[in-house]
Amino acid sequence: MLNLVLFGPPGAGKGTQSKKLIEKYDLIHLSTGDLLRGEITQGTALGLEAKKLMDEGKLVPDAVVIGMISNKLDANKDAKGFIFDGFPRTVAQAEALDQLLESKQSAISGMIALEVGDDELERRLLERGKESGRPDDANPEVIRKRIKEYNDKTAPVAGFYQNQNKFKSINGVGSVDEIFDAIVNVIEEYKK
Ligand code: AMP
Repeated sequence: MLNLVLFGPPGAGKGTQSKKLIEKYDLIHLSTGDLLRGEITQGTALGLEAKKLMDEGKLVPDAVVIGMISNKLDANKDAKGFIFDGFPRTVAQAEALDQLLESKQSAISGMIALEVGDDELERRLLERGKESGRPDDANPEVIRKRIKEYNDKTAPVAGFYQNQNKFKSINGVGSVDEIFDAIVNVIEEYKK
């Protein structure tokens, strides 16, 4: 199985690159942000609870996202592999993911981090907000909170995979195709 964690701050391009990667490698895209927005659209209790935190730019509780990922892994038993996008966002989530995959005789192949500076992220997210309609993309204060949550709680997840020799970072500034090619080069290494 090819199980990739696409890593990087909000606005780094994880969603854009995931869409291209799932086509090339026939993988299942698991974005916890998309799954949470789906719960909100459906008006579930989980969605209602998560919305408050998401609108403030805060992370939702680990147990919530781990449960969603576990369900999706169970629902896609025959998958060739997964791209995890926006998950894991804490070291506790990374540990839980390792355990979930181990129980299925699988493992993370590698993490690929997209590096983009804070000013560029803020610019991209405000631009995306004009079309996405996402409340958390519309407000500069919420955007800065999301970037802070990333730096405080999510950035340490890179070290978790570095310790397992499963970490590569690439420049996330450039054309979509250039960045895609750089990611594919890393994946080909992970596949060896
Ligand atoms: P995203 O679409 O990945 O930018 O996620 C949007 C929002 O959903 C985040 O700001 C968090 O509030 C929440 N979220 C998404 N994924 C996670 C996660 N793995 N852990 C905690 N909160 C998450």
